Amino acid sequence: MYTRVAEQLDEVRRSIPAGVGLVAVSKFHPVEALRAAYDAGQRRFGESRVQELLAKIPQMPDDVEWHFIGHLQTNKVRQLIGKTALIESVDTERLLGLIDSESVRAGVVTRVLLQLHVAKEETKFGFSVDELEAYFSERKFESLQATHICGLMGMASNTDDTCRITDDFAAIAACFNKIRNDASLGLRGFDTLSMGMSDDRDIAIGQGSNLVRVGTAIFGAREY
Ligand SMILES: *Cc1c(COP(=O)(O)O)cnc(C)c1O
Repeated sequence: MYTRVAEQLDEVRRSIPAGVGLVAVSKFHPVEALRAAYDAGQRRFGESRVQELLAKIPQMPDDVEWHFIGHLQTNKVRQLIGKTALIESVDTERLLGLIDSESVRAGVVTRVLLQLHVAKEETKFGFSVDELEAYFSERKFESLQATHICGLMGMASNTDDTCRITDDFAAIAACFNKIRNDASLGLRGFDTLSMGMSDDRDIAIGQGSNLVRVGTAIFGAREY
């Protein structure tokens, strides 16, 4: 039933240049689909709902790296801490603070990306460019005790307008580079720029993405 997964995964892999990582976005797909991708060598999986992720973890091998990519409600943080290789979707300072305090409590270090909002839709979550730049210039990250900010994640506007998509990714990349190249911040390991999904990953890679999150092109359409 999931015979096409290996083939589609291979096709996606071949379309991605060396140096760009792939997160297989498996949300809403059954564990059998994830196993097909795992058996074809995929180790990084992305999920967007805490309950679904927690249900899948014990059904998959231990060497899977789980990326959380959905909007994270503050009341779910405690359950998620210690389960992820990377939380890509940290969208407020409050959430970041909570992840940090829960990580201290659990005795783990949590790796995160900050989500940047540049798309036109109001519905998308994330820091604005101004908020993010202020967060770093005011050196607020220095108060984190058990959270490592590894970079940024962002999405382009949901449109067919290639220029618009390119501009959105360019804006996210510019913000990323500004922070990463500011030696005065003294950041270490701020090196991940997660941009691009099934339909816009080539544009994202062209704008400097080094991590793409691909669901539909690997697993097929989701049934919500
Ligand atoms: C669902 C999702 C994806 C994958 O989208 P596809 O179009 O299926 O590749 C990528 N990133 C985020 C944040 C998502 O929620």
